[in-house]
Amino acid sequence: MLRSTFTPLRSVAKSNLFQPKRFLAQAASTIPKTQDQTKPSNYKVVVIGGGSAGLSVASTLSNTLGDKAVAVVDPADVHYYQPLWTFVGAGLKTLEDSRMAMSDVMPEKAQWIKDSVATFKPDSNSIVLASGESISYDYLVVAAGIQVNWGKIKNLPETLGKNGVSSNYSPQSVEKTSEFIHSFKGGNALFTMPSTPIKCAGAPQKIMYLADEYWRKAGVRDQTKINYYTGLGKIFAIDKYANELLKICKARNLNINYTTDLVEIRPDSKEAVFNVLAGEAKGTTLTVPYEFMHVTPPMGAPDFIKSSSLSNADGWVDVNKETLRHNKYANVYAIGDCSSLPTSKTAAAITAQSAVLKNNLLGDIFGGKEVAKYDGYTSCPLVTGTDKLILAEFSGYTAQPLETFPFDQSKERYSTYLLTKEIIPDIYWRAMVKGNWDGPARFRKLFGSA
Ligand SMILES: Cc1cc2nc3c(=O)[nH]c(=O)nc-3n(C[C@H](O)[C@H](O)[C@H](O)COP(=O)(O)OP(=O)(O)OC[C@H]3O[C@@H](n4cnc5c(N)ncnc54)[C@H](O)[C@@H]3O)c2cc1C
Repeated sequence: MLRSTFTPLRSVAKSNLFQPKRFLAQAASTIPKTQDQTKPSNYKVVVIGGGSAGLSVASTLSNTLGDKAVAVVDPADVHYYQPLWTFVGAGLKTLEDSRMAMSDVMPEKAQWIKDSVATFKPDSNSIVLASGESISYDYLVVAAGIQVNWGKIKNLPETLGKNGVSSNYSPQSVEKTSEFIHSFKGGNALFTMPSTPIKCAGAPQKIMYLADEYWRKAGVRDQTKINYYTGLGKIFAIDKYANELLKICKARNLNINYTTDLVEIRPDSKEAVFNVLAGEAKGTTLTVPYEFMHVTPPMGAPDFIKSSSLSNADGWVDVNKETLRHNKYANVYAIGDCSSLPTSKTAAAITAQSAVLKNNLLGDIFGGKEVAKYDGYTSCPLVTGTDKLILAEFSGYTAQPLETFPFDQSKERYSTYLLTKEIIPDIYWRAMVKGNWDGPARFRKLFGSA
């Protein structure tokens, strides 16, 4: 159940320091909710999506522009901190740890419009909601995330969460991953990664390392074969981290199969069918039996963006990769997973993107600001065990590391594991969704790593 309390805001804020997330929910729940109030049909800024990107932008903009100048359109009741799902899938965090009621994280001064956007009308500066209502804006920020295409794998929707098939990519199935890993008695364990862009390209393999460790401790690893099937030709895009990951896979007997895309599950015979995308067997299929399978489904641009005039040829919102401004419509910006920004899609990337977007959009409104430029920064904390992690930080634009700390982040460390599991989630709830976290760039300068 999502929380509610009547503790006065000030007393909560005082006792809030270094307390768990529930205290933040207490503080937020004392703020008057806006979605039920009579709403205008025109806003200075409309933000589409109240996810990681939408809230980090809407918080700052609504604080700067004042009451009801900013609207956030999102139909969801719940906001999730999805990076925690790797830990939930391994039984190291609960699903509850990863979520808050949308009403508790919605910025106080923004108008929450609890509906979906159906159609964009950028030529008339308006959007049409699923309810049929039209909303107009001076500026639009599109932050609607990526679409998970479960149906593109034959039989996946009906098999998910049953008979050993799970996925950390949905709040409906992530707890099943933990259940299936913990009750596994040995056999073929498969972990898949599609050839499409996905959010957090490291997550499909992180859960494999955690499962491997658990099965070793549970004494079933000797009777288990672990196979990772990726649609891509590399284990990770950046060589510095890929080289270390390959060493880990070799040492732990984790088999990597490249350029193979899961296309079908046969639940009755417990078989997975893969398309072979390259090499001598290109064009053929491969059928592999499984006892456990963690599926990362194909993903892509949301359909309502793909079919609009805001999209590029691949369906993403077509923005300038440095300024985040739309390439055709000057009063439209995009951020996060739904954007065309050619970098790895993560919440970490959004920390840097939001600083740029807010600077440039407020510059449009008030004038006089120097244009800020996004450098492609992104990060993937590659959890490789319950006490170790490789903290990949890099620019998707240069394919070069952009590390924060003055040590070699490609090595497994306990410190970066703790940072990812305990400290960054707190920064997320305390600062990022409130618009007060612009990523680690300033620490890079402080540590002299920049
Ligand atoms: C298993 C897993 C592990 C991950 N691990 C990490 C990690 O370790 N580190 C990291 O940085 N990132 C990680 N990520 C990725 C990270 O969670 C995403 O990149 C991030 O949440 C993207 O933010 P977003 O705002 O673009 O999209 P989201 O946070 O997904 O939000 C999109 C919002 O848009 C709304 N929306 C959708 N359609 C419409 C519509 N038509 N109208 C209005 N609103 C709409 C949705 O309801 C949603 O609230 C992980 C993700 C997963 C699933």
